[in-house]
Amino acid sequence: MPHPYVDKDECIGCESCVQICPDVFHMDDDNKAEADPEADDSTECVQDAMDTCPVECIHWRD
Ligand code: SF4
Repeated sequence: MPHPYVDKDECIGCESCVQICPDVFHMDDDNKAEADPEADDSTECVQDAMDTCPVECIHWRD
């Protein structure tokens, strides 16, 4: 199953993904989003967060 990850170099810290999908995304100490490494595409809000990210820096990886 694919897992979500955040390209932190691109993240602008808007917290949109955390608001949309708080079970998977949280902010780190540098105000960059992180995805739960155990999360996968069975959590529907991950795709919503991805689609809503203003800089499109959330991606899937296998
Ligand atoms: S929505 Fe995108 S830019 Fe905003 S905090 Fe999440 S990963 Fe970063």
